[in-house]
Amino acid sequence: MKCSFAFPGTYGHECGQPAVKVAVFVSKPSENSIPAYMTRSGLFYTGRCEACLKLKGGENTGMLRLEPVADQVNDWVPVNSRTGKPWQEVA
Ligand SMILES: [Zn+2]
Repeated sequence: MKCSFAFPGTYGHECGQPAVKVAVFVSKPSENSIPAYMTRSGLFYTGRCEACLKLKGGENTGMLRLEPVADQVNDWVPVNSRTGKPWQEVA
């Protein structure tokens, strides 16, 4: 896994160094893409290298916790942008 931290002003260019930890965030539907997606688990996993781990704010804002790099995967599902719930769960 690689570090996906993108520095402000780099237009989303990601760090790309080898990740030493996995940062865990709450998965939220994107507000600027249709259809919207979030993860089935409600958590979003992304790599952080040693340097980017220490940065405050930016893409580290809202981090729930750090985990050892394992086999974390983001299982994306489309969500109903009106309800914020996965389509599969909408009756
Ligand atoms: Zn990095």
